[in-house]
Amino acid sequence: MKLSLVVPCYNEAENVAAFHEAVMEAFDGCGYRYEIVFIDDGSKDATLHNLKKLHSAQKCPVKVISFSRNFGKEAGLYAGLQHANGDYICLIDADLQQDPAIARQMVQMLEEQPETDVIAAYQDRRGEGKVLSFFKRSFYAVINHLSDVKFRPDASDFRCFRRSVAESILSMTECHRFSKGIFSWVGYETTYIPYTAKPRAAGKTKWSFRKLMNYALEGIIGFSTKPLRIAAYIGMLTAAAAIIYLIAVICEKLIWGIAIPGYATAIVLILLLGGIQLFCIGIIGEYVGKTFEQVKNRPIYIAKETLRWEE
Ligand code: UDP
Ligand code: MG
Repeated sequence: MKLSLVVPCYNEAENVAAFHEAVMEAFDGCGYRYEIVFIDDGSKDATLHNLKKLHSAQKCPVKVISFSRNFGKEAGLYAGLQHANGDYICLIDADLQQDPAIARQMVQMLEEQPETDVIAAYQDRRGEGKVLSFFKRSFYAVINHLSDVKFRPDASDFRCFRRSVAESILSMTECHRFSKGIFSWVGYETTYIPYTAKPRAAGKTKWSFRKLMNYALEGIIGFSTKPLRIAAYIGMLTAAAAIIYLIAVICEKLIWGIAIPGYATAIVLILLLGGIQLFCIGIIGEYVGKTFEQVKNRPIYIAKETLRWEE
């Protein structure tokens, strides 16, 4: 098998058949064998039903892994990689925002450039609002500052890579999977190509602003421990400020004999210090929580049904 297309699907009932068609069209006459690995990520609509139809239609090799519930796109990609047999693996969404014809170009580029291991697409033009794009830019600025691995702004999960890269990604078994970080962390020679995301064929995006924020925080916690150090610095700074203030108060009383203005200052300081402490405990708590989740060592996903492809 030359190529495996790994396609996570969550409530994509209206898209999967069209996606399958688009792939067949894009790879028509390519001269090599390819398979489509669909992951039904606990969809609540007819996605699984439609995927089963595609599997039994046998127009091209189709595998279907169906999760017992929604585990998230990252878990879907992991399951897809585990079941992919291709020499090349391409991650692509089911909603036709990412053109399968570009996937074919990616394979060709990998064939022509033996020194390149990953072809990753980044969005060259964004159709999103100014606020969201401001937050995304800030996120990349922050994470690139905090993390040792570097993140390319706008690089998407739409990418094609060699088997060795897939094996490396699979060797990372962390339960909080932040794929942008995982791709950067494994390294390999990566070439970026621009692409324009098309509008969604049907259905709507699963990413709300709140989910994006959580995802961003998850990425920062998952790929940097610097926030812990920042918490320690904040602690040191407030302690230093407190000592300076203490000296000032003593001088005021002893040298100038000024009565110490107590009440308001005390309240403000108590609140300020309480806030800073809670903030720092919150940061530590995030890491403790993530550690707790990881040591439980639960599986990344549970597949309730797997339709294989018998040759
Ligand atoms: N997806 C998934 N599980 C989820 C959320 C999304 O498998 O919990 C899939 C979804 O079906 C799609 C891809 O991940 O194929 C990208 O999702 P979406 O189109 O909602 O994201 P966007 O393109 O808006 O970033
Ligand atoms: Mg999409």
